[in-house]
Amino acid sequence: MKKYGVIEMTDVESLRIGTVIVSQELMGLVQYHGHLCPELAIGYRVSKIAITELGITRGNSLNFIAGAANSSSAVDAIQYLTGCTIGKQSFFIEDTGKHVYFFARRPLQPLTGQGLIIKIKTPVYNPQLLNKEMAKDVETQLQDPGKLLQYRAAIDIAIRKILNWPDKRLFDVFYADLNGGLLKQNSKLYN
Ligand SMILES: [Zn+2]
Repeated sequence: MKKYGVIEMTDVESLRIGTVIVSQELMGLVQYHGHLCPELAIGYRVSKIAITELGITRGNSLNFIAGAANSSSAVDAIQYLTGCTIGKQSFFIEDTGKHVYFFARRPLQPLTGQGLIIKIKTPVYNPQLLNKEMAKDVETQLQDPGKLLQYRAAIDIAIRKILNWPDKRLFDVFYADLNGGLLKQNSKLYN
């Protein structure tokens, strides 16, 4: 998402990006991904829940599989933080554009194919942002420095909500049967 990279304002020393205070761990992720954006923050929060719930580490990640129902910046966060990656065939994407995420131990056992599902509860921000006038042509309007600052401020507000709201306010977190397919057979979970 090129537009988030227009103003970086990354300050590694103070762990501040724009107006957002970040942890050392998140700063590492931002350096890997290239910028801080709302989807990256969502992936960060999702990963933290999965790591706590299932005990995933980069060291034991081969024992797990993960999936996302979108191909946003969040998937970079999940791969970076959990170690479940496309390259290791332990991360899968079925892009339905939804912030729904799946984690499970592997192999899935026939009778206990329980996977952890994390779904965002509400749109924390509107990707089109700000107002209808701006949504018409975001890229053109971002050529205007004033509009760009306004845009970045709205992005920062969304990021701060995602980073600071409690898990329960942001996500539904539950276990569900993932037998029969990690993603495809569970399309009901997207809704
Ligand atoms: Zn991004």
